[in-house]
Amino acid sequence: MTEAPTPAGDLTDGFHLLIDALKLNGVETIYGVPGIPITDLGRMMQEEGLRVLSFRHEQNAGNAAAIAGFLTKKPGICLTVSAPGFLNGLTSLAHATTNCWPMILISGSSEREVVDLMQGDYEEMDQLAIAKPLCKAAYRVLHAQDIGIAIARAVRAAVSGRPGGVYLDVPGALLGQVMDAVKGAKSLVKVIDPAPAQIPSPASVDRALDVIKGAKKPLIILGKGAAYAQADDVVKDFVEKSGIPYLPMSMAKGLLPDGHEQSAGPARSLVLKESDVVIMVGARLNWLLSHGKGKQWGEAHSTRFVQIDIEPKEMDSNVEIVAPVVGDIESSLSALTAGMGNGWSGPPKEWTDAVKEKKDANIARMAPTLQNNASPMNYAGALGAIKRVIDKNPDTMFVNEGANTLDFARSMVDMHKPRKRLDVGTWGVMGVGMGTAIAAAVETGLPVLAVEGDSAFGFSGMEIETICRYKLPVCVVVFNNNGIYRGTDENRSAGDDPAPTVFVQDARYDMMMQAFGGVGIHADNPDALQRAVSDAIASGKPTLINAVIDPKAGKESGNIGNLNPSSAVTGEKSAAALEILKQKASQ
Ligand code: ADP
Ligand code: MG
Repeated sequence: MTEAPTPAGDLTDGFHLLIDALKLNGVETIYGVPGIPITDLGRMMQEEGLRVLSFRHEQNAGNAAAIAGFLTKKPGICLTVSAPGFLNGLTSLAHATTNCWPMILISGSSEREVVDLMQGDYEEMDQLAIAKPLCKAAYRVLHAQDIGIAIARAVRAAVSGRPGGVYLDVPGALLGQVMDAVKGAKSLVKVIDPAPAQIPSPASVDRALDVIKGAKKPLIILGKGAAYAQADDVVKDFVEKSGIPYLPMSMAKGLLPDGHEQSAGPARSLVLKESDVVIMVGARLNWLLSHGKGKQWGEAHSTRFVQIDIEPKEMDSNVEIVAPVVGDIESSLSALTAGMGNGWSGPPKEWTDAVKEKKDANIARMAPTLQNNASPMNYAGALGAIKRVIDKNPDTMFVNEGANTLDFARSMVDMHKPRKRLDVGTWGVMGVGMGTAIAAAVETGLPVLAVEGDSAFGFSGMEIETICRYKLPVCVVVFNNNGIYRGTDENRSAGDDPAPTVFVQDARYDMMMQAFGGVGIHADNPDALQRAVSDAIASGKPTLINAVIDPKAGKESGNIGNLNPSSAVTGEKSAAALEILKQKASQ
């Protein structure tokens, strides 16, 4: 559609140039919190046809923008006020950057002259300087005629190469600047080919093929970079034509259905320990994979790594990569699949048989636990109910955070389609839940099921008002075990306060939802839980289910108790930690 030219003499301003520049680059939704100096900007955005979602806290709006970036391959936009609002949003901008998701944080700021002389303005802060080390790029615009270029730079920085977070500083005075409308329109830039394909070098593809063809026990690891790439058919083709077992990282679950015969998910320990060649596809060898070395990787033998990644600097970050393939997932996997071509007869049968045997045994062992009907529920009982609902409703967007709630759900709830599982990401951070759920509903229009530990939920819980306000089809299930990790911890001092890790006993989170007009349900057994979740998904009504979990069921820090400085996994404290505790107790 071509718009009629603006008559000479018409004026535009910073507000409208910013809005026009965003729209020109395909932005449709703004996640934010209004206030000085961007209150009018939000109103005008809505007036001009952008969808503006107002949150109760900037961090949740930012987490929504971050996950919108993951789901759409376009930068998610978060809009905040200055200083404190900016800082709240900054946490999620850093989160987006760490996870390699495109996002732009646009924050209003105080007048440069006052900030730079540190004269004490309302919400004074040198935001650009603070944002810089925490994101991929940071820019400030001072003149209305530069807004077009600023947005173009921000978009390109966010989505090109390894995606990430971008900060855009918008001093309040900029928005009110007026300029000629024709000149203004000409100053806007529509970014051409914002994330160009990155074709791997033929030599790197040949090298990788040599390594793969020589493998006796090969393994593919799919990461959330592969999910982000939206090259689902190419990934499937590579996995299936290669015949190699694959392991999905948490947010890559569903890229191929978890029930796929080549999935090695239920044989994770075995394949990590025994594989001799590992092909990393949009996944990093960070803490989530024990940095590619040590006990989990079978210590004694050395694994040879092929790695496909768009970011050259990722190679050799933790261990030697014998065949780095620098390129985008689609181009790289297409080249590898083509190169495998004739003469590739798949991995040795002894290997695929061994993986299958282990996998079948583990699935058989887990199956009865998912039928546990006890009340109050343990994790397997409650997650069995959740699993059955997802199996019947495979299009549901599944959001998940918590400690035990996260660890158990990752292995117990199958995903059937790409980009359906949204969770805590690379940092393992709590508090992303409601922002993620809201963006999942807004960006996909699909029903959302957020399974939350009671502690995790608390970080963003006020956003259930946002969910009700926008009538989003979100069902939140709070796994309520009265506390962090377990609800049974006791105060070890002489004081009366509860232990640092416990909450109010038997809290009724479902009643919070009712306060905002949503559906609130209390469920203390798997059948009731399954019914309530099914109903919520069918009705699309904002719903919160308070799922009563046995306070004794969890374990400290879930699966990552070993990361506690005193290694305070129940019963597994280090000798030094035990000695200190003993001394303290006798003082
Ligand atoms: P996981 O946690 O699932 O292992 P990570 O977030 O650690 O996944 O790794 C994702 C990797 O994918 C990053 O190294 C990133 O550079 C890479 N990546 C992101 N998008 C693409 C793409 N389109 N093509 C290739 N690599 C990509
Ligand atoms: Mg808890």
